[in-house]
Amino acid sequence: MRPTSVILADFDYSAPKSLEEALKEKKERKGAYILAGGTDLVPKMRGQVIKPVHLIDISGIKELDYIKEQEGEVRIGAATKISRIIDSKVKIGILLEACEKLGNPLTRNKATIGGNLCNASPAADTATPLMVLGAQLVLKSLNGERVVPVENFFVGPGKTVLKEDEILTEIRIKPPEDGAKAKFVKVGLRKADAISVVNCAVLLKFQRGIVTDAKIALGSVAPTPILTKEAQKILIGNKLSEELVEKCAQIAANEAKPIDDVRGSAKYRKLLVEGCVKKALRELMEG
Ligand SMILES: Cc1cc2nc3c(=O)[nH]c(=O)nc-3n(C[C@H](O)[C@H](O)[C@H](O)COP(=O)(O)OP(=O)(O)OC[C@H]3O[C@@H](n4cnc5c(N)ncnc54)[C@H](O)[C@@H]3O)c2cc1C
Repeated sequence: MRPTSVILADFDYSAPKSLEEALKEKKERKGAYILAGGTDLVPKMRGQVIKPVHLIDISGIKELDYIKEQEGEVRIGAATKISRIIDSKVKIGILLEACEKLGNPLTRNKATIGGNLCNASPAADTATPLMVLGAQLVLKSLNGERVVPVENFFVGPGKTVLKEDEILTEIRIKPPEDGAKAKFVKVGLRKADAISVVNCAVLLKFQRGIVTDAKIALGSVAPTPILTKEAQKILIGNKLSEELVEKCAQIAANEAKPIDDVRGSAKYRKLLVEGCVKKALRELMEG
């Protein structure tokens, strides 16, 4: 019989009030985990997938919780909750679409955008929109900061380029230029409150009806979210047509390298990729 309650392994806990304090703790306490909303971390602790010796709770650090415009970019603090991003009506439609489809209202009120990225699930819903937007991530340690394109952030399932003493502090997004169109499509096992079996983000730029730049990102079809280098390339220099949409979707499905898991087989996922890319491109063609 499954136990009805789980006793978590012992751990120490601290709740620094400033980023500086949090960075000091991250450096000093080897093996400590950052706790943001806890919606990924706590279930993993309950399932004994991880047993942190120390949690550094950043949810009370105000300097990590903001949405602002600066130097032509939208800048979002890593500990900003998904619900706050939705309420802000930030003018980046594709990110809003993904946030609105993440989990359920309770989850969105706890979950942070930084946690969604640092958890490094191939299915993370904000990852693919941020990839097509070319977002940059600010990683800080006591030694300084570095800025990494989101497409270079993920290394494998649950793994990122974050170093032991670093914290993700900010997500920087250049809003798409006028005339660009973008779409996020997600398929889960239910209509709401479901992890993506496949998700897909597409961003296209046009000049007189011709595609001048194209980005297509896929989630939950490889060890990390991916940009489909070949599929996006065939759109550039062409006008969207039903024939081109079909061809692009097939190439995207070939680029996907999914596995079988509890949410779907690899074969099913490839079919979903084709369907999701077609749906996104058709909507962009019509809209
Ligand atoms: C019921 C339910 C439904 C869900 N549905 C979805 C869904 O539809 N789509 C989806 O994408 N996800 C979903 N999730 C997963 C989860 O809610 C999201 O990934 C969420 O954004 C994680 O954010 P968090 O603040 O809770 O992260 P946490 O759980 O606090 O942290 C996650 C990981 O990131 C690390 N971390 C967090 N912030 C930082 C930082 N600033 N710097 C360095 N490391 C950091 C933590 O140490 C931990 O390893 C769901 C979860 C639940 C429980």
